[in-house]
Amino acid sequence: MRAGDNKAVTAYIALGANLGDATQTVRNAIYAINDLPETLVTKQSSLYKTAAMESLPGAPKSPDYINAVIEIKCLQPAYLLLEQLQKIEQKAGRERPYLNAPRTLDLDILLYGDEVIQTETLTVPHPRMWQRAFVLVPLAEIAPQLVSVARLEGVRGQGIEKL
Ligand code: AMP
Repeated sequence: MRAGDNKAVTAYIALGANLGDATQTVRNAIYAINDLPETLVTKQSSLYKTAAMESLPGAPKSPDYINAVIEIKCLQPAYLLLEQLQKIEQKAGRERPYLNAPRTLDLDILLYGDEVIQTETLTVPHPRMWQRAFVLVPLAEIAPQLVSVARLEGVRGQGIEKL
């Protein structure tokens, strides 16, 4: 597929990892996404480090996350893209350091062109993307037209460090 293919949809994917060599996991995932059929990675944000959000008060603290956002051009429908991203997640998950460890890699479809998708397995735009600095800051770096100053202001209190 060529980047200029005019049938290709521009989509944005958020990557996050917080176990093992998280930086390498994110880099490998970007290569793996670029290798998917009918898919090209066309932009890539810097890597960022963010503190893990605790899902339960008092739960043990998880390691920091490494996050990034990429832009892709894609000729396959969003549901197929999601299936392939989940396979990449599962492969990375095989490197789990201990039983029931959190997943090594999380891949979320943030936007898929201007499509609005609401199925059992896929919600696009991603429902929580506007509340998360670790999504909005890297997204604003590669697609500033998509993230207003007000949106960025809304997540300003969340710690995020560019690597
Ligand atoms: P999480 O681990 O919190 O990212 O959730 C993964 C689940 O979210 C999967 O079962 C997906 O089917 C579902 N899902 C819904 N919308 C999306 C999306 N836009 N990107 C990735 N996963 C999604």
